[in-house]
Amino acid sequence: MKLDPKALRYMSTEDFRVLTAIEIGSRNHDIVPTSLISQLSRLRSGGVNKFISDLVKRKLIASEANSKYEGYKLVYAGYDYLALKTLSKRGSVASVGNQIGVGKESDIFVVAGDNEEEAVLKLHRLGRLSFRNVKNKRDYFRPDQSPSWMYMSRLSAMKEYAFMQVLHSQGFPVPKPIDQNRHCIVMERLDAYPLRQIEAIAEPGKLYSELMDLIVRLAKHGLIHGDFNEFNIMIKATGAPILIDFPQMVSTSHANAEFYFNRDVDCIRTFFKRRYAYESVLYPKFALDANKEFDLDVQVAASGFSKKDQAQLDSFIESGELGGADEDRLPSDEEIVYMDDSDDDNVGSSEEDKAHGDVNDSVGAEDSDAEDDIIEQD
Ligand code: ADP
Ligand code: MG
Repeated sequence: MKLDPKALRYMSTEDFRVLTAIEIGSRNHDIVPTSLISQLSRLRSGGVNKFISDLVKRKLIASEANSKYEGYKLVYAGYDYLALKTLSKRGSVASVGNQIGVGKESDIFVVAGDNEEEAVLKLHRLGRLSFRNVKNKRDYFRPDQSPSWMYMSRLSAMKEYAFMQVLHSQGFPVPKPIDQNRHCIVMERLDAYPLRQIEAIAEPGKLYSELMDLIVRLAKHGLIHGDFNEFNIMIKATGAPILIDFPQMVSTSHANAEFYFNRDVDCIRTFFKRRYAYESVLYPKFALDANKEFDLDVQVAASGFSKKDQAQLDSFIESGELGGADEDRLPSDEEIVYMDDSDDDNVGSSEEDKAHGDVNDSVGAEDSDAEDDIIEQD
């Protein structure tokens, strides 16, 4: 994936107004009608076309060949620019360096903020699926409330950031959270390697118990990581483990909590046996070790990630769209599908009013950012 913040300098104010207008319009439209783009961006209708065709050329937006009306949708690259612009305005990302990770659901870059300190930018990419998957699982993308890739990726980033903040404030070994916008989070860059890359350790028993203690400590705070494995545990030079990657975190009161808890424990047992030939009869048991002395869920909700957001994201995750073991390979660019439904039954002038209403009243912090972008530039 290319992510060139210098390109931000070549983006005009109008380019951003059009991008932002499409972002806002896509809350109610899969394909945002050109007339609505023009209206939301407050650019004269003749004027808007030039910027639209420019953005299409730069692959920040796309048209939909079989759409029944003329309109455009944001693609990930365009959403990336909107987020980068906000993060750079706030000083948390001033430059972007190498990509250090690419997963099915994220891209990871080294960045530096205004303070020149290195940090890590994680872009969440839910819905980056092959055609095959999208066709099979299409329903998950367009039930009534239409969770789009954009919306789900943003929820996922909000969730990860909320958990990182709460865990960090409670003294858990996690990266220090720095900033969040749209589908992006900025966090401390760890001077550490994934456990996966560590061939040998002097005292596997010590690390094993530290990791099991960490699982138990989380459970005593009402939480289960849900993906506690050698890819999501970073090891510092001192040997200390740091936990990353939280979008799938679940509560110990979740109906399947015991299953998720055991799966986390088993991941570590299996890995230690295979890699370090280390086995122990001691391992945590859900019934004994999980309780709710504290409920961090409450704090997470207080930090802006609501129970409703949680439920929506959970049902998406449980649909099997995330982390499917049979989907190891990355989809190629051609296979990447960004919300390609073309049902247009919500198009019409009254809908456009609704879109305007939406701008004003159905919002979280991110949405007001988008709105600011438009208003500011007046
Ligand atoms: P994914 O959801 O794609 O699995 P992760 O959050 O697990 O994303 O990050 C993927 C990889 O990126 C990690 O295995 C690690 O190598 C690297 N990484 C992630 N966060 C950091 C960080 N804060 N500091 C250094 N490396 C990181
Ligand atoms: Mg991971």
